Amino acid sequence: MKKKSITAASVVAAGLAVITMVTGFFMIRPDKRVYCEQALKYTLGSFSLDEVSADELHLKQADADSMKVSSELMLVNREHPLPEEYAPSLEEYKDSGVIMSAFSVDSFAELSKDISEHTGEKLYVMSSYRDADEQEEIFDEQGSSTALPKACSEHETGLAQDLYFESYAGAAINKCDGGRYLTAHAADHGFILRYPPMETDITGIDYEPWHYRYVGMPHAEIITDNGLTLEEYIGSLEVGRYYEYGGYIISRQQGNTLEIPEGYKVKVSEDNCGGYIITAKK
Ligand SMILES: [Zn+2]
Repeated sequence: MKKKSITAASVVAAGLAVITMVTGFFMIRPDKRVYCEQALKYTLGSFSLDEVSADELHLKQADADSMKVSSELMLVNREHPLPEEYAPSLEEYKDSGVIMSAFSVDSFAELSKDISEHTGEKLYVMSSYRDADEQEEIFDEQGSSTALPKACSEHETGLAQDLYFESYAGAAINKCDGGRYLTAHAADHGFILRYPPMETDITGIDYEPWHYRYVGMPHAEIITDNGLTLEEYIGSLEVGRYYEYGGYIISRQQGNTLEIPEGYKVKVSEDNCGGYIITAKK
């Protein structure tokens, strides 16, 4: 029998066949393409922000107790449960009966409008704010890989929403144009994919392509562009340091006396890790 030899041409042909098969599969299942892209983005790469010396900034002291403090950068998970005295600021979204955080309601309206203008598809909210009793019921029903015990779910802040489109909910959300537009543009409006693929060891929750969390700007952009979890991002901000990103100064601080840059528009959020995150914009 004649022995076949592996030529360069046969390797190229085999490669092309594989590419054609994968491309064809991704055309039928665009949600799987999104999954693969996200798995790559969230598991690869390294991250650091540019640091600014405190000497380069004109700092003034401010008392956190006398400032309006938001909760948009609170880290809420099993290790960082909400304090018992925590009371979320809530608002109803456009007379819809959906209750969400007052800090995110306007940005959510913009996200929803952006999606429908570009895809013609309407974004719906399956679940938004839940009180501790509702969270406990869900945990008892679903178990610990997809649900969190009470006080450990960011749904209790109203900053997280479980989203869907008509006929495309849950794991199928990225099968429709609206879902893929949401994936690509949520960060433009301050929202992040909170439970990315292959990061369960960090977040404690399996991949949830439907669960988005408001963190505001520029944090959503930094987290999404660099493929980070909220745990990794907040952990990367060293207490007392100042970081620069796109015209913003970001600083994580502890104690009630905050050192904030003068001449900037400043927002302060609790981090639920014993401190605050300052976001300052020129
Ligand atoms: Zn959720």
